Amino acid sequence: MNIESAPHTKLATQQALRLRRLYLAFGSYGFTLLLTLSCWHLGFFAWPVVVAYLALMIPINLAFYIAIRSGFNLRFADPSLTFAQLLASILPVFYVMFHAGPARGAFLLLAVSAYLYGLFQFRTRQFMAMTLLALSGYAAMIALLAVYQPTQVELRVEMLMGVAFAVTLLQISILGGYIGKLRRKLNTKNSELEARNQELEVALQTIRDMAIRDELTGVFNRRHLRDVLRLESMRADRHGGAMSLCMLDIDFFRNVNDDYGHLAGDLVLKRVAEIAQAELRQTDVLCRYGGEEFAILLPQTPLAGARITAERIRLAVERSRYYAVDTELRVTVSLGVAEYIRHEDPDRMFQRADDALYRAKESGRNRTMAAGLMVAV
Ligand code: GH3
Ligand code: MG
Ligand code: MG
Repeated sequence: MNIESAPHTKLATQQALRLRRLYLAFGSYGFTLLLTLSCWHLGFFAWPVVVAYLALMIPINLAFYIAIRSGFNLRFADPSLTFAQLLASILPVFYVMFHAGPARGAFLLLAVSAYLYGLFQFRTRQFMAMTLLALSGYAAMIALLAVYQPTQVELRVEMLMGVAFAVTLLQISILGGYIGKLRRKLNTKNSELEARNQELEVALQTIRDMAIRDELTGVFNRRHLRDVLRLESMRADRHGGAMSLCMLDIDFFRNVNDDYGHLAGDLVLKRVAEIAQAELRQTDVLCRYGGEEFAILLPQTPLAGARITAERIRLAVERSRYYAVDTELRVTVSLGVAEYIRHEDPDRMFQRADDALYRAKESGRNRTMAAGLMVAV
């Protein structure tokens, strides 16, 4: 997952989760429907009550589905629309209860199960608000029944049911609030851990870089070159194929330090490393070998190719200017190249490249010499 797409993916995951919860809610509506149908079948009420229940339930669920699918839910403080969903699930139940006569009590259990959906989002305060709403709804329904169908209510029983209902909801509210708190704590801890992991990842990368790179120039260090050389020489021994090494040394670098200071010298070193890197292939390995000396391993490259590369670097350095130090400053490099001879000790290739470099210095600097043969430049 790349970093830019991360927030997008997170949002998509959250929306998918909300949809899954909605499907769960559909399931609980299904149970309510089952209970409603059972009541009708057993003769507690006539079929129009079932139809009215469906007429309430289907549009409500459809509305929530469309809201989440279209992203409309994201405009609200709680994009899960938990409160609205709970309310919407309780109201149709009260409607059915109103008509259910003595079977009313069975539906109270459904209100309780609907409550469990609040566990995903609610704080104790919201649970309490829901409880107040559910109890008021229940009381209002009983009051309506007492007024319009007094024969249908046995107030003593309803009071008892009401108290049991209230106690159950209160307990779920308190427990739910507690679970919510734990969940949020866990979420915070998870985010902290994730952030810490990312920090560690960055630190680890820095350590990895430090282990294989030169601090000043950022090119590879000698140790890394050794590792790559070991692998490449084994590959060349086994499968054939050429490989070359190029040693590069800045000419009269001591003078740069003496004339402009050590910091200017560092700047020149960095610049020369950049120039060399720009002339190389991705598979070539440029390393700072020591002081103002660099080594370049050129896998899959015979001597002729290495010479061309070395010359390209030499000319690029010759052309380079150092305005930050002095517009007059000119820097040149001498290079020695050698091709790997199958099954030889890689150190011998180093030795031959170094010898070639020495000869380049001896014969006037700012030139490339190949091991064993002179190159006119
Ligand atoms: P030659 O053409 O023979 O290579 O002459 P040179 O002056 O380049 O060679 P010499 O080996 O005499 O001097 C190398 C100088 O490089 C000496 C040292 O102070 C300098 N040097 C080595 N490492 C660093 C570094 O990290 N920063 C700076 N500024 N100078 C460095
Ligand atoms: Mg030098
Ligand atoms: Mg040197």
